Amino acid sequence: MSFKDLNLIEPLERAIAKQGYKTPTPIQEKSIPSLLEGRDLIGVAQTGTGKTAAFVLPILQRMPERYPRVIRTLVIAPTRELAAQIGESFAAYGAFLKFKHAVIFGGVGQGAQVNALRKGVDIVVATPGRLLDLMEQGYISLKDIEFFVLDEADRMLDMGFIHDIKKIISRLPQKRQSLFFSATMPPQVNELARQLLRDPVHVAVVAQATTVDSVKQCVFFVDPAVKDKLLLDLLRQKHLTCVLVFTRTKHRANKLVAYLSHNGVRADAIHGNKSQTNRTKALADFRSGHTKVLVATDIAARGIDIDNISHVINFELPNIPESYVHRIGRTARAGAEGTAYSFCAADERDFLRDIEKLIRQKIEVIDHQYHSEHAKNAVGSAARPAPKGRGGFRPQNRHKRHFRR
Ligand code: AMP
Repeated sequence: MSFKDLNLIEPLERAIAKQGYKTPTPIQEKSIPSLLEGRDLIGVAQTGTGKTAAFVLPILQRMPERYPRVIRTLVIAPTRELAAQIGESFAAYGAFLKFKHAVIFGGVGQGAQVNALRKGVDIVVATPGRLLDLMEQGYISLKDIEFFVLDEADRMLDMGFIHDIKKIISRLPQKRQSLFFSATMPPQVNELARQLLRDPVHVAVVAQATTVDSVKQCVFFVDPAVKDKLLLDLLRQKHLTCVLVFTRTKHRANKLVAYLSHNGVRADAIHGNKSQTNRTKALADFRSGHTKVLVATDIAARGIDIDNISHVINFELPNIPESYVHRIGRTARAGAEGTAYSFCAADERDFLRDIEKLIRQKIEVIDHQYHSEHAKNAVGSAARPAPKGRGGFRPQNRHKRHFRR
């Protein structure tokens, strides 16, 4: 299918061409026709599948211009980063239309956001807390909303936003088109969807499997004490051009940045303790290639949409296997190739087993000079011989050569 088959209006086709998109992604192909008919939709898809365009394009096509401007579209997202990215998508796909949007999130002063609202906007993209705050102060009214999108619903509930969301939904007009996106559908999320949507079209893209399939995955068994050295060795290879490193804690993220910087690798951290200004700058520097390495915790990284991430490195394995899938989904965006390396210490072997169970595949083990003893005694992945010459990394061989000399 091509974008032509979706019957989008010319200004949208032009914007898509400007973005360089050739064909719609599966979620776009499945959602856009029903959304253009005005149907409600429940989309089971994670970030990275092209779902933002899947909802932004039809909304931009269906929303009539209206002056003076009033808010007709409301998109709720769980994190500031995701809200900002969705805002950017409205700007990019709406480049040849006349709509205005505002992005509303907490953690920064409200002045600039209130000013933008005062000037008049058609679209608001918001995180729940600040939105309610501005509604209560009388800066935002939802009475003219025609299009409502709840994005990353599962994450939203995880983060404890359920009451805020219910409150927001209760203020929406009855007559509206509602869209609901979630990567997973646990019962509580399902129930929320049922309350929000009317006779929705169901669209699911097997994002987890697809994402996992398009990422080359390798695991390094390594003692915790030498993980930083292994990381440095890997980062010194040329083909690791744009690397997102995950740690479990903010403290570890900061320590790692200090270590890398000390060793001449440009790195920055992004996590919940950083100010919004810091986070925005870190992301911008990473996106532009100014910093080669971004060290992140799970929450901070959720929804980061940066093309060209060549490698994701799990400095520590997540204890929730789904987080692994989300993490490695930061690379191999929208069909590109990507690689994920995971460092596994002895006490993380159970996490690795859970991950392999979830993704239903064994992760390739890479031999290396810091290879830890525990690998030899391990079962599952660790028991398999380390393949040579894959994963683009052979320090073990380098090491051997070194010895022979
Ligand atoms: P999303 O899932 O909305 O976060 O989108 C993931 C990435 O895919 C973004 O960087 C988009 O710019 C990109 N993208 C969206 N639709 C397409 C498409 N049809 N072709 C190529 N890239 C796309």
